[in-house]
This record gives sequence, structure tokens and C-alpha cells, in this order.
Amino acid sequence: MSSLQNRVVIVTGASRGIGRAVAVRFGEAGAVVVAAARGNHADAVAEKIRGEGGRSSSVSVDVTDTKQIEAMVGMAIEEYGRIDVLVNNAGIVRDQLTMRMTAADWNAVIATNLTAAFTCSRTVLRPMLKQRSGRIINVGSVVGQMGNAGQSNYAATKAGLVGFSKALAREVATRGITVNVVAPGMIDTDMTSGLAKPAREAMLAQIPLGRLGTPDDIARAVGFLASDEAAYITGHVLAVNGGMYM
Ligand code: NDP
Repeated sequence: MSSLQNRVVIVTGASRGIGRAVAVRFGEAGAVVVAAARGNHADAVAEKIRGEGGRSSSVSVDVTDTKQIEAMVGMAIEEYGRIDVLVNNAGIVRDQLTMRMTAADWNAVIATNLTAAFTCSRTVLRPMLKQRSGRIINVGSVVGQMGNAGQSNYAATKAGLVGFSKALAREVATRGITVNVVAPGMIDTDMTSGLAKPAREAMLAQIPLGRLGTPDDIARAVGFLASDEAAYITGHVLAVNGGMYM
């Protein structure tokens, strides 16, 4: 990961779970980490990275708000002069069977998981195009690949991210920008901690490697796609799911 030294990286949803692990890993690799979440939620991870000798700023951003996204990117450019990597990680679930799903729950998930990735990507493209380099990594899900009852809104966003990433990858490839998806399986975070024991056990039974993933399992894959070692990989969906879906 030595190629990540001094790279300027924006991570959305950096306050907890996968995003936090991604931010910490980039910090350890010597990158400059802009850790984003709502309110002051990302302050602690930025402090941790600085406390370990790294460089990091936290930024308050609700990714459903275009103006806040533009302010975040503006701050990163003003403070660090460039943006090398964007990790679109912020995400939510609002699970319900489709017949009972409200439009509000459908729209909230689309806005946070899919539209925000579009808006953040569009906003970083200007500096990346100027630099003629950049990495955009979108956090998808195994659910976007195989579906899951009760998650039609969530599955639609995660499948949507794949199409979005492949289309954008083709648009910007000649400018040295790659766009990829990391698709986690079931990872032990706040998002999955609410699952009832039977549902959790049923999920575990579907995982050939026999355990839930950790946020670090995902952070390692994101770090790889951001590194020079992955320079020739674009439009790819990297499944990190313990074999849950092959
Ligand atoms: P968590 O629920 O632990 O964390 C979600 C993160 O998203 C938080 O940092 C939260 O920040 C942020 N976030 C949510 N809404 C917004 C918003 N409107 N604006 C800014 N930030 C927001 O989730 P995970 O770490 O588990 O998930 C991270 C990503 O990985 C998601 O995209 C998820 O879909 C995906 N994923 C997770 C899997 C799992 O099993 N856990 C499996 C497959 C994919 P805040 O502090 O502001 O709330």
C-alpha cells in the first residue's frame, strides 16, 4: 500500500463500520483522509488517524444534500489541493416487503445509497479530470447481485451502483480515472447487528467460509483498488463475501 502515501482520499460514512475501517486503513498507509459523516460523527476517526501520526480531517456532510457534498469537496481541494480517491460508502437500509414498503422508505434508500454516489462522483470528477488521475470506489452489496426478500429498495440501489460504475468507468477511462465496486457479503457492523438470531444463523449457513466478514476484510479490498497495483482494473465488481455468492 506504499502507493497510497500522501494520496488524498474522501471516505463517506466514515464514522462507523466499514467506512471507519476504510478510513483507518488509508490513514495507516500514509494517505490524507477526509472522513465524512453527519454532524460531528467522523471527528473521532479523524482524531484517531492524527493520533497515530497520520493526516486527516473530518467533515460534516449529509450525502443526500448536494450543497453539503460540494462544500466537502471544496474543503478537500482548498486544504489539500487535489482528490485522488473517492470511496462512496455511506449507506442505509429501510427493510420491508415490497407490498408494504412506503414511498418514503424507497426514496430514502435511493437518495442515500445511489443518488449520493452519483452526486459525490460528479463533484470529484472536475478535479480528477484536471489531474488526469483518480479512483472512485463504490461500496455495493452481495444483495445487489443475488437479491434479498425485504430489501428491494436496497438491492435496487446496490445493483444500480454496478451499472452506474460501469458506465462512468467507460466515460473517464481515457483520463486515467478508474471506477470500481466492492460488493461486501454479510459484515459485522451496526447495519447487521439488529438481525434476529435465526436470520443471522440462516445467513451464516449460506457463507462457505463460515463466518461473517469484518470491516477490515472490506477495507483491504478498497485499499487494493485504490493502490497502484490495481491500475489496470476498472468497471469491476470485487465480491468480498466469503463465497456467499459466486
Ligand atoms: P453502518 O450502518 O455501520 O454505517 C453507515 C455509515 O453511513 C455511517 O458512517 C453513517 O454515518 C453513514 N451515513 C448514513 N446515512 C448518511 C447520510 N445521509 N449522510 C452521510 N453519511 C451517512 O453501515 P456499514 O458500515 O455496515 O455499511 C457501509 C456500507 O457498506 C453501506 O453502503 C452498506 O450498504 C454496505 N454494505 C454493508 C454490509 C454489511 O453487512 N454491513 C453488506 C454489504 C454492503 P452517520 O454517522 O452520519 O450516521
